[in-house]
Amino acid sequence: MDARERAEGPEPEAAEELAQLARGLRGHVRRRQRLGGEIARAPARAAGPVERSAAPGAPGPAARPAARPAARPAADSAPTGRSAPIPAAAAASGSDAVFATVDAGPARTPADVQSQSAAATTLDELRRGVAQCRACSLCETRTNTVFLDGEGSSGLMFIGEAPGAEEDRTGVPFVGRAGQLLTDIVTKGMGLARKDVWIANVLKCRPPENRDPTPQEKATCTPWLDRQIEMLAPRILVPLGRHAAMHVLKVQAAMNAMRGRVHLVGGRPVVPTFHPAYLLRNPPEKKECWKDIQLAMKTAGLPIPSRETGSASGT
Ligand code: URA
Repeated sequence: MDARERAEGPEPEAAEELAQLARGLRGHVRRRQRLGGEIARAPARAAGPVERSAAPGAPGPAARPAARPAARPAADSAPTGRSAPIPAAAAASGSDAVFATVDAGPARTPADVQSQSAAATTLDELRRGVAQCRACSLCETRTNTVFLDGEGSSGLMFIGEAPGAEEDRTGVPFVGRAGQLLTDIVTKGMGLARKDVWIANVLKCRPPENRDPTPQEKATCTPWLDRQIEMLAPRILVPLGRHAAMHVLKVQAAMNAMRGRVHLVGGRPVVPTFHPAYLLRNPPEKKECWKDIQLAMKTAGLPIPSRETGSASGT
């Protein structure tokens, strides 16, 4: 700045340029405030999901004391503040283009799902993205999207395949007959409240007549689930049934080839087990499912209630 500018202020063109900059900055701040101010508050912006050092057969988390982990974010609370990194491009540039994808209206293509899920910084934002998603034809027949249930204080997350009729009607995962059995597994078997686990699905919308999801529907929808997992950072994943297990493990295999052991995916333990709907049709398999659940609990360092007394034991 020269002596004239110090005395008289900037030239008119420079003043206009400054005013434009100030207007731009105010707009930028307003847009960020509309997004809930989460960007400023998120403490773990650069952190990815916690890498755990579990190894198949000798899982690390089991070595921890069997105390219940500290409370985790409720299904719909915001922000998660744990591991919901702002996309690197946005963090680096602060660019509005990246943030705009969150409020850009319904996702209409698989690419929209990818960018909106990546741009979401809170579970609530992610849930809004799912609720308005129109990226595949399942949006034409759904009543409600089905996002997530539970507060997850145990750190255990069940992942089913896709909502059924009751879930479509209520917007809550696993509330039909299979859901009742899953609730029994959690409450009567694991000695937890249903809200102590998270429950989500690979698909967020019901396939008509409960048909199997197509590979394209799964590919389109799964960025939503992957971002949920990234944000919640569960201690352990328990996929229910073959479709969910194949998605989480990224393999094509029979159920019996996947269940019964601990897998590691990105450092996180995964223990697949049978889908409750299958168990309703094949009750003798409940014993095998209980073995898987015990393995998952042990791996996550959760106390396993003894069947006789109903009291928790660490073994
Ligand atoms: N089956 C699933 O896989 N998910 C549900 O939410 C209900 C039934």
